[in-house]
Amino acid sequence: MFALFLFARAAFTRCKKPGEYKIRPNRNFSFLFLKPAAKRSACQERPSRLRAGSQPCYIFQMEFIADLHIHSRFSLATSRDLTPENLWKWGQLKGIRVVGTGDCTHPGWLSELETKLVSSESGLLTLRDQPGVAVPPSCRSEVSFLLSGEISCIYRKAGRTRKVHCLVYLPDFAAARRLNSQLSRIGNLASDGRPILKLDAKDLLQMVLEASPSALLIPAHAWTPHFSVFGAVSGFDSLSECFDELTPHIYALETGLSSDPAMNWRLSALDGITLVSNSDAHSPAKLGREATVFDTEFSYQGIFSGITNGRGVVSTIEFFPEQGKYHADGHRNCGVRLTPKETIDCGYRCPVCGGKLTVGVLHRVELLADRPAGARPEVAPTFRCVIPLLDLIGGVLQVGTASKRAQDLYFKLLQMLGNEFYILLKAPLEEISVASSVLLARAIGEMRLGEVDIDPGYDGKFGVVSVIQR
Ligand SMILES: [Zn+2]
Ligand SMILES: [Zn+2]
Repeated sequence: MFALFLFARAAFTRCKKPGEYKIRPNRNFSFLFLKPAAKRSACQERPSRLRAGSQPCYIFQMEFIADLHIHSRFSLATSRDLTPENLWKWGQLKGIRVVGTGDCTHPGWLSELETKLVSSESGLLTLRDQPGVAVPPSCRSEVSFLLSGEISCIYRKAGRTRKVHCLVYLPDFAAARRLNSQLSRIGNLASDGRPILKLDAKDLLQMVLEASPSALLIPAHAWTPHFSVFGAVSGFDSLSECFDELTPHIYALETGLSSDPAMNWRLSALDGITLVSNSDAHSPAKLGREATVFDTEFSYQGIFSGITNGRGVVSTIEFFPEQGKYHADGHRNCGVRLTPKETIDCGYRCPVCGGKLTVGVLHRVELLADRPAGARPEVAPTFRCVIPLLDLIGGVLQVGTASKRAQDLYFKLLQMLGNEFYILLKAPLEEISVASSVLLARAIGEMRLGEVDIDPGYDGKFGVVSVIQR
C-alpha cells in the first residue's frame, strides 16, 4: 500500500500538539446513495415548453451543472484571465453549462457583460460573438451565463460587528442596474468586484427583492469563520437573527469548501433550505471545484424556481470538506490544529502562544447542530466529493500542478476523453488508464469511492488529501 500525496507543494505544518482527529464516520459512503452516473444525459433533453413567437424556441428540462459563484478580474486578488470568453472556454473544459458572471455590481464588468453577452429565450445570457479561443471537440458545448455578484456586508447588529458575504442573482441587466443604483448610494461599487459595504445583510436582501421578484440572495460560504452568516467570528447563530422577518426569502445556503451537505443536515433549522455549492473561483482553471447539479428547465426561471422550491437541485459536487482551509480549529502561526473538543478544553486559547484560536467550520456546525453526525433528513439531494483532476495528475506524476508535464497530461485527457467532470465522475477507468496510466485511473477510482486520507485544513491553511492505493 502506498499513498499519492496531493498538494505536496503546500507543505503542511504538523500540529505541535497533535490531536486525534476523527474523520466523520460514513461521510464517504454518501456515494452509495447516488443514482448511477447521471439520471439523464444532456442528449436526452426533453422540450418542456414551446414559446410563442415568430422564432419558436424550445426550452429543455434537463440535468446540467452550474457554478454560480465566481469572480471577475475586477475583484481583488483575481486572475487577469477572468474574461467572459475565458469563462466560456473553461466552462466547456470543466463540463459546466451555466456560469455565474460574478461581480455584477461592478460598473466596468457589468458594461463589459452588456457588450459581450446577449439574453437568450431562456432568460440566460450567451456570448454575442463566437470567441476565437480553441476548445477541443470532445469538450464542446453551449455555456450560458447568469448575472451574479457577491457583496461583503460589514455592519453592527445586536452589539457585535457582523461580516456576512451574500450572493445575489438577477434575472436581467435592468434588475442589476436597479440594484446597483441603490447600492452605489452606500459605497463605491467600482473599488472592488466584490464590494465591501456598510450595509445590514437584511437591508441588502430588501434591496434585492425590490430589484426584481425573480432576484435571489443566498448567504455565501455560510460557515467560514470571518465572513459568513454562521461564522464563528462575526456571524449569527440562526438565519432569523440575521434576516429577521425577511428570513422566509432565504431559500438556499452555499455550503462553502469546508463544509458538505452532510454537516448541514445536522441542523433541523436548515431542513427547508436548498444547499448549493459553487467554486468561488478567482481564476478560470478553478471553475467548478464545487458545483451544483440541477434537473430543471434550462432557464433563469428554471434555476430560480429549482432553488426556491428546492426540487430543481439533484446533487452537489463537493470538495472533501476536510480539505477546506477552515474545516478544523487552530492557530496557523503556531502550527496548531485542534478538534472542537480540544479547543473547548484549551478554553479557546492557543496552547502554544495563548492567542485566540480560529474556530473552524466543523466546530460551528457542532455548536449549532441539533442532530448527531450521520443524520440525514428525509428529503436531501445527494452529493459527491471530488479532487480536481489537475491535483490528481500532479500527485500521480509527483510534480507541481503548474508544471508542463501535468498541464500536458491534463489537456491530453480532456482532448481524448471529454470534459473534466466526465473524467472525474463517469469515464470508465479502463479508458482513463489507456489515455494516461493505470496509476491515475486507480487514483480516480479511489476518489470516487471516497478512499482518501485527509490532513484537515485549519485557520486559512488548506487540508492535504492523499489517495491511497492498494
Ligand atoms: Zn466571499
Ligand atoms: Zn498560537
